[in-house]
Amino acid sequence: MTPAERTEQIARYRNMVQGDPEDDLAQFRLGQALMEDGQFPEAVEAFERTLKLSPGFSRVYQYLGECLIKEGQRDKAAEVLTKGWATADERGDRLPREAIAKLLVSIGAPVPAPAPPKVEDDGSPDTGFRCQRPGCMEGKRAKQLTAPPVPDEIGTRIQAHICSACWTLWLKDQSVKVINELRLDLSSDFGQGEYDRHMREFFGFEDAPKA
Ligand SMILES: [Zn+2]
Repeated sequence: MTPAERTEQIARYRNMVQGDPEDDLAQFRLGQALMEDGQFPEAVEAFERTLKLSPGFSRVYQYLGECLIKEGQRDKAAEVLTKGWATADERGDRLPREAIAKLLVSIGAPVPAPAPPKVEDDGSPDTGFRCQRPGCMEGKRAKQLTAPPVPDEIGTRIQAHICSACWTLWLKDQSVKVINELRLDLSSDFGQGEYDRHMREFFGFEDAPKA
């Protein structure tokens, strides 16, 4: 990405955040864009706003901690990362938990011990399926999609790991918002790439698809 594209991207996310200050994902993406641009104090603010909106969004702690380390705020970084580790552990967010552990080790802070799994019980039947989207509130009510929602690798992955409520939220709400507010042209490689990236962020898929 060129510096001009990055500036443009930051401006778009700022617009998105202004349009809907409750949009945790837009706040998160703004934070990431600022971080990639080396604007760490601004990125820290965006990540802190994200966590206010979405305290269970474990990966945000990882990025926030990284920014704080870059700014030389070791103690605050250790505090944020320790909290993030516990959040990721409780939610079963394996990748953020591992990344956070690495950051804790890198600043010489102790990595906490895993807590025993918590049993939630609100009286509703357990579907046996667990959704992996960070921020999913379905818990044991999560229902699996009966078929991959899109016909490629990512569709298989969504069916395997994401509940039907989260898929609907993406399809009906988030994807429309992403396309409109980022003014994505889906016929261009850039537009498609940004759309895919946003969808992966939304579902908590970290790695790029295997070519
Ligand atoms: Zn879900």
